[in-house]
Amino acid sequence: MGINRERLKKQFAELISIDSVSFRERAMADYLRAALGELGIEAFEDDAAGRIGGNAGNLYAYFYREDFDPAEEMTPQTAPVLFCAHMDTVSPGTGKRAVFHEDGRITSDGTTVLGTDDAAAIAEILEALRGIVEEGLPHRNIELLFTAAEEAYTAGSSAFDVSHLRARTAYTFDVSGPAGTVSGTEPTLVEFRVRITGRASHAGFEPEKGVSAIVAASRAIACLPSGRIDPYTTFNIGQIEGGTGLNIVPEEVCIGGEIRSLSDETVRLLCREMQAAFESEAATAGAACEVTLIPHLTAYRVEEDDPALRRYRETAARAGITARTVRNFGGSDTNTLRRNGIAGITAANGMHRAHSCEEYTTVDELVKAAAVIRNLME
Ligand SMILES: [Zn+2]
Repeated sequence: MGINRERLKKQFAELISIDSVSFRERAMADYLRAALGELGIEAFEDDAAGRIGGNAGNLYAYFYREDFDPAEEMTPQTAPVLFCAHMDTVSPGTGKRAVFHEDGRITSDGTTVLGTDDAAAIAEILEALRGIVEEGLPHRNIELLFTAAEEAYTAGSSAFDVSHLRARTAYTFDVSGPAGTVSGTEPTLVEFRVRITGRASHAGFEPEKGVSAIVAASRAIACLPSGRIDPYTTFNIGQIEGGTGLNIVPEEVCIGGEIRSLSDETVRLLCREMQAAFESEAATAGAACEVTLIPHLTAYRVEEDDPALRRYRETAARAGITARTVRNFGGSDTNTLRRNGIAGITAANGMHRAHSCEEYTTVDELVKAAAVIRNLME
């Protein structure tokens, strides 16, 4: 029977109409739990909400064959496979609406993102499951994970306890580009926070007694690289905040930024360089300096003989789609899963121009991505 195009369109539009910006995925989690329940699949929610400061945790579920016995030794045929997508969207994502155009394109109304990132993946997974359940088809032992706050440096999946899963292979659908696109790399990403504390003083009466945290920070920033440093590495200072008044020598300044690179080693070197620059300029000025490094992603590369990639490639080919790997400079839940011993890949869900109000997909692409997902499940 294959993919039910009209049902998929309807499902997609319904998911898009649910507000689900990062850390506010409650309505989406409730919707998904009910939708899975209708298919006879019970979903569980973990306690990540409280730990990440959101209003929903990660949702996980099992869709095993009746003869599945976890006590038996797993074979390639019985080993569970995980299907993963994230529930949150970026902003502006409140009041989203899917607008279907005559030529098959689907966009937002222009005032918000569309939310194909990652609602397209959720719609495709639900359509694949629905088809299998309704037609009573044999299927793999399937596990499902719908994460919260992926867009916030994978906060949700990072707080997820993978011991809820038996799968050691995962497919996450969260890459831009045509059906068949697979993320071949992901970077290491480290967030940094710097606090420089000088001494406040009246800027007009006795500036000599003050130590300007802003001046110390500026000198350090001026020595640091910025933007794209090499083809595999970027460095960004994205936030700076400090000072309390125009006539006060600023006592404190806080700086935030990120470093990402496909080379883990390069990130380590840049972290050291950044830290040394702030510490040395602070010391010269007579200020104190505190640097905090928060690692979010660990670089990986999918090898050509990776089992998940091989299986995806074969499955896509059966649906007439050629798989191709691309270099990805963003993270995904695959990164977290891999850190926790679950080998997986991130593949296309049919989205284009994600994270912008020009985000779009097409009905054909949704259908193609859903077809690949369904084949992976069968
Ligand atoms: Zn995404």
